[in-house]
Amino acid sequence: MDGATIPRSPSSSVGDYLKAIWESAEGGAASTKDVAERLSVNPASVTNMFARLRGMGLVEYERYRGASLTEEGLSEALRLVRRHRLIETFLLDHLGYSWEEVHEEAEKLEHAVSDRFTERLAELLGHPDHDPHGDPIPSADLSLAPEDLRPLGESAVGERVRVCRVSEDAGVLAHLGERGLVPGEELRVQEVRVLDGVVTVEDKDGVFHTLGPALAASIFVEPVGYGMG
Ligand SMILES: [Zn+2]
Repeated sequence: MDGATIPRSPSSSVGDYLKAIWESAEGGAASTKDVAERLSVNPASVTNMFARLRGMGLVEYERYRGASLTEEGLSEALRLVRRHRLIETFLLDHLGYSWEEVHEEAEKLEHAVSDRFTERLAELLGHPDHDPHGDPIPSADLSLAPEDLRPLGESAVGERVRVCRVSEDAGVLAHLGERGLVPGEELRVQEVRVLDGVVTVEDKDGVFHTLGPALAASIFVEPVGYGMG
């Protein structure tokens, strides 16, 4: 053995595409449009990059069907997702970052740190399985257990639910954080207005929160039961 190892870390741009495909595909294929919107780039660049990623063996791509990750592409995406979510947890729990600041910082840092650093960080944090937004953290062997969550707006009136995950949008996070509507909190669903999607919930202190459809769609819950707890 001469110790020569091929650096396996893809460039940050390749990594960002793999993550964007993973995030928008949800197991299927990601369209050019979805990925272009997610990365704020024009669709022509996305088409070029899809072809490049196909050449690297990281995606399968057909023009009218979009791109889906190969096994290798999926591993690379999950490796970055693991880094991202561990870094976010670290920034929030140890460096005094606010809830809405961590994402942007983690976007930069995830490309700078090594796998070694990532695993030391996981050790320091006690191997958490969820990040501060409630997103699951892929394990060290890059597997991710499926979760069965649904948007708050799909709850039944009277149902008690636990907030498990909230969208990463900075504005949404600031707003929900202020109201204490964060992962782990239990709520009782008071009203779901079919007409406009407005949801009213009651928190553990008996405070009512009326949430517009965009906010309600940013909160993912699991049922806890019915009635007051
Ligand atoms: Zn994030």
